[in-house]
Amino acid sequence: MHALLLEAPNRFSVTERPLPERGDRDVVLRIHRAGICATDITTIKGESPVAIYPMTPGHELIATVEEPAAAAPAFAKGDWVTIYPTQGCGHCNACARKEDNHCATFRVQGVHRDGGCFAEFMVVPEDRLLAVPATLRNDAGALIEPTAVATHAIRRSALKSGQRIAVIGAGSIGLLIAQAAKAAGAGYVAVVDRLPERAETCRALGFDQFVLSDGNLARTLAQYGEFDIVFDNVGAPATLAAAVDGLRTRGTLVMLAFPHGSDPVTLPYPKVYRKELDVIVSRNYAREDFTASIALLEGGKIDAARMITATYPLTKFADAFSDLRNNPARHLKILISPKEQV
Ligand SMILES: [Zn+2]
Ligand SMILES: [Zn+2]
Repeated sequence: MHALLLEAPNRFSVTERPLPERGDRDVVLRIHRAGICATDITTIKGESPVAIYPMTPGHELIATVEEPAAAAPAFAKGDWVTIYPTQGCGHCNACARKEDNHCATFRVQGVHRDGGCFAEFMVVPEDRLLAVPATLRNDAGALIEPTAVATHAIRRSALKSGQRIAVIGAGSIGLLIAQAAKAAGAGYVAVVDRLPERAETCRALGFDQFVLSDGNLARTLAQYGEFDIVFDNVGAPATLAAAVDGLRTRGTLVMLAFPHGSDPVTLPYPKVYRKELDVIVSRNYAREDFTASIALLEGGKIDAARMITATYPLTKFADAFSDLRNNPARHLKILISPKEQV
């Protein structure tokens, strides 16, 4: 099969790879669309602490079942599916609680393991499959996984109807969180980014305010009143300070930024203390967040057409990758299609 092969950081090509071996309970998926995620970029650049080489990366996908599981199949050939990609060890306390996303050694295919979805086919355990409803059997289905990051963050935040929220960082995850917050009844949604081009996107998505991060973000954000919840996707001292300043007393700070390196995070603790803030971390998602994600997408609460800014054939992966890296203002989610005609 055709697959992206990442041999070492920054060294990749689309080449012939054998289909991975499979067991009785594995299925072969025919990939329809695969989304490029920030995680893939760090993996390709060699900045992911968990990546292995060589590997085929990719974990956001919509597919059809090509070959069902040999033993007691629950999915048939041709069924439209996506995957819950997290696989726990199966025997630790977290796994026993069915929280495989908190297993200390969980693995995601295409992130920590070879066998990702930038390929024509993928072999996955059948118990990872999730059925995709008819209305999402198209490009929108590739957004189910990243939208689950957003529904997890909303669930963690305990957002209540009418609340005022701010989202710092208007990349694809930030914009999905803002849309999920609106769907959950947020009364006012402000989105902060340093790319002025995001203003137009935010207007089109119907958010109340776009805030250009201009070097004095704390002062800028505070102009828009007090927030009940601030979602920070950046994790920099300046954005966290701005989030703390923007929150009301007993407000909630939700931190989503992936930690690169082992530097401690910097929070202005005296203000956190005086305001008695709830500081929450939201990491990836749990399986149940995919149910909420599918419901949001099905209900039209996520503007898939606006979130997907380009689709490239797999053979042009290098072009897709450089387009995404060189034109951050133009792109949100770029999809990859194994078919030459996209
Ligand atoms: Zn992802
Ligand atoms: Zn475990």
